Amino acid sequence: QAKADGKGIWRAFEPEMAHRARARQAIETDIRKAVEERRFHLAYQPLVDMKSRHVRTFEALLRWDHPERGSVSPQEFIPVVEDLGLIVSLGRWVLETACLQCLKWPEDIRVAVNLSSLQFRDGNFLEVVRQTLKQTGLPASRLELEITESVLLHNEAGALKDLAGLSRMGVRLALDDFGTGYSSLSYLRWLKLDKIKIDRAFVRDIGQDPKSLKLIAGIVSLAKELGLSVTVEGVETRQQLALLEEIGQIDELQGYLFSKPLHIDETLTLIASLSQKRDAA
Ligand code: C2E
Ligand code: MG
Ligand code: MG
Ligand code: MG
Repeated sequence: QAKADGKGIWRAFEPEMAHRARARQAIETDIRKAVEERRFHLAYQPLVDMKSRHVRTFEALLRWDHPERGSVSPQEFIPVVEDLGLIVSLGRWVLETACLQCLKWPEDIRVAVNLSSLQFRDGNFLEVVRQTLKQTGLPASRLELEITESVLLHNEAGALKDLAGLSRMGVRLALDDFGTGYSSLSYLRWLKLDKIKIDRAFVRDIGQDPKSLKLIAGIVSLAKELGLSVTVEGVETRQQLALLEEIGQIDELQGYLFSKPLHIDETLTLIASLSQKRDAA
């Protein structure tokens, strides 16, 4: 009886597992080809200054242009790219493309680029950034790199050295998704950071949940004590904005309330309209 049951279960699972393996293989083949042929583009989302409402930074967000599925989110494919060992190559393309794009913007606007922790693993990331800045001609001060705590999980000493070197070069460092890792606070001691970005998980229910609001307020005041700039991610509603304004001290806001990630052409249009407002003021 037990054996029959086991077999039944196995039979039920087998097609599902085979299906998943096939799906994974298909995505791997697709993504290998995409990386070879650079079938990607970058979308740009503005970070808005809380006080002035000026835009000083655009975050570059990777998009995969899939022939059938359209524009695919990095959450779906970055892990596969990492597993296949292709992230260093793709990461260089992202960095170079973002730097070249930033050069077309006014000089007071910088670009923020997301990094995978694996980009620190091959030991010459510092050199990659130095070369990219030199070849594109973008001043280091106009580049911001977004890292997550996982950077330190893999190659602690090497990553710390690279991050210190980047900071000396004048590149700005932001700790992304702050509050979602498991020992956020200790990293604040080791990393020479300029900014933290509070994860949108905290913002989502600040309207309903007073604890979330208190947590954000606490993180903001801690970050300010440490001399860090603070961005809050994922602001979607006016109500959230009003609550965040009450906390005060927040430097920048990012989220659908202000803008979704934009196509390159749309960023240029937005920048043009912003500078017109600036000129008119
Ligand atoms: P992230 O760096 O934390 O980026 C913020 C994500 O939140 C983006 O998703 C953005 O589109 C989304 N977002 C922004 N505002 C809102 C909002 O108001 N509401 C909601 N619900 N979402 C909002 P996206 O573009 O799908 O990127 C997901 C993650 O993929 C990024 O999270 C980042 O960790 C990673 N990623 C993106 N581009 C790259 C890249 O070039 N290299 C690497 N290694 N990772 C990247
Ligand atoms: Mg980011
Ligand atoms: Mg984030
Ligand atoms: Mg994220």
